[in-house]
Amino acid sequence: MKQLKLFALAATSMFVLAGCAQQHSANNHDQMILQEQATLGLNWVQQSGEYQALAYQAFNSAKVAFDQAKVKKGKKKAVVVDLDETMLDNSAYAGWQVKNHQPFDGKTWTQWVNARQTQAIAGAVEFNNYVNAHKGTMFYVSNRKDEGEKAATLDDMKTLGFTGASEATLLLKKDKSNKSARFAEIEKQGYEIVLYIGDNLNDFGDATYHKSNEERRAFVQENSKKFGKTFIVLPNPNYGDWEGGLDKNYYKGDAKSRVDIRHNAIKAWDGK
Ligand SMILES: [Mg+2]
Repeated sequence: MKQLKLFALAATSMFVLAGCAQQHSANNHDQMILQEQATLGLNWVQQSGEYQALAYQAFNSAKVAFDQAKVKKGKKKAVVVDLDETMLDNSAYAGWQVKNHQPFDGKTWTQWVNARQTQAIAGAVEFNNYVNAHKGTMFYVSNRKDEGEKAATLDDMKTLGFTGASEATLLLKKDKSNKSARFAEIEKQGYEIVLYIGDNLNDFGDATYHKSNEERRAFVQENSKKFGKTFIVLPNPNYGDWEGGLDKNYYKGDAKSRVDIRHNAIKAWDGK
């Protein structure tokens, strides 16, 4: 009888283990699908002339807007830019994610930042240096972490040729990832922000922070006249808060549920 019980226990354990292994490999499979879906967007960012042309278009518009912007008497002229996928190109980190089927992760991201291999987006250095040479000050308001990512960020920016990158102009994330408190800090120093540049609507204020894509699109409609003038957008098909905006439970579910949410969000012709 004892032997029978032991056998039953062993059989149950094996069944549970096999179930876990199956579940684990299903998760890996869905994680692989999620990461592989980034391939074409990444090909576009890294290889197409069209992506580079859009980046130049953004900075050319930014230059016109900067030149035309006037500040109130006694105010200093400031331009606020985001860093990642706005001024800095991290597509090689995204490439590592695709090739290794790895999700974004704070730990590997910090390793990437500290590898000091970040590149500049086309036109970003030239525009940055133009602003700083024409009575403007560029501020970098980024959600790279203040602790553990600041030194490498400054090193890369200096190596890439961004003038004016310093402890005073680089405002990284200390606690909150929404940015309006940092914008207010800049204004408190006597600056008027004439231009915001980013790849994420949250780079233009907190109105879209943690909002659905429907609300994010409504913000864009309400502010449609500002784009190309006070708000300049860089394209980023690879990631952004629009992804979580697909569904309020997007990041609560597993890889399978994210694959499903992406599919269900597609508007499609029925083929007839
Ligand atoms: Mg960004």
